[in-house]
Amino acid sequence: MDAAAPVGGDAGGVPPLLSVRDLAMTFPGRRSATGRRGAPVRAVDGLSFDLAAGETLGLVGESGCGKSTTGRMLVRLLEPTSGSITFDGKDITHLSQSRMRPLRTRLQMVFQDPHSSLNPRQTVARIISDPLLVQGWSAADARARAAELMELVGLIPEHIDRYPHEFSGGQAQRIGIARSLATNPRLVIADEPVSALDVSVQAQIVNLMERLRRELGLAYVFIAHDLSVVKRVSDRVAVMYLGRIVEIGDKRELYERPRHPYTRALLSAVPLPDPAAERRRERITLLGDPPSPAAPPPGCSFHPRCPKAQEVCRTERPLLRIAAAGERREVACHFPED
Ligand code: SF4
Repeated sequence: MDAAAPVGGDAGGVPPLLSVRDLAMTFPGRRSATGRRGAPVRAVDGLSFDLAAGETLGLVGESGCGKSTTGRMLVRLLEPTSGSITFDGKDITHLSQSRMRPLRTRLQMVFQDPHSSLNPRQTVARIISDPLLVQGWSAADARARAAELMELVGLIPEHIDRYPHEFSGGQAQRIGIARSLATNPRLVIADEPVSALDVSVQAQIVNLMERLRRELGLAYVFIAHDLSVVKRVSDRVAVMYLGRIVEIGDKRELYERPRHPYTRALLSAVPLPDPAAERRRERITLLGDPPSPAAPPPGCSFHPRCPKAQEVCRTERPLLRIAAAGERREVACHFPED
């Protein structure tokens, strides 16, 4: 872990629901046309954070920063290269798929593209009740539960025998959410759950997820590249850059006074609702694209694009630590903003 202490929400002395330490994922390099393998890709490079029951952590960053890989490791669709994941008091880092099965009732995932994540040859009844049938429910009970869940997520239960192609994108995402809730999970990892949807539909799905969290006491890790969406749903936010967390903390503090130059740049690109404020505000343009995780820059990996970079940034990697007294927010920068 980068920081001196775990970065976590305030669980009031109760053990966190999810605890991640030094989590890393390295993929083998791609083979070239000549058969030579390229450098390994360090997609996630030492993440540590805690998540309390009922809390939402937003995970944001540009495409390729490692946030989706992180989500897939958290539900163990990918096995981490190193580090640990403790869920509900149990170390799940290297559990076999058969030993993960009982835990999957409490740990679920919602995917980005609702239509491609639903089997087109199955009815909604089958899609939603599948996790229950795996747990040994009878077909009749699982079907009744699927109808209940359709109502819960704002779908018409009478449409239970329809197929995914008969639903719009927003409705299909509601089916995906209903399926994720079938077994009463405590934690849902939502990987870009609204980014494939129209803006008006995005708001409806975000509102639905908010309501479900309140009513069911769910915790979310909400992965997105859109900072306005993350702001609406999160209690805390972690900003990722090139496989690492560069800033993590309370949503209000982070959005009102970002301390990492990368967070500032991302937030400066979010449109403001007030046109006058939008005209006045300073936009920070980042140079170039993020470097390849197969060849990360030395020192601070953000230094080639950072408007504040100094000599030390090119050689010394900044640790994630509390940047200001009285704050719980942590920042990985040699020269955090005041
Ligand atoms: Fe910029 Fe240096 Fe801070 Fe990295 S450590 S974000 S290069 S100021």
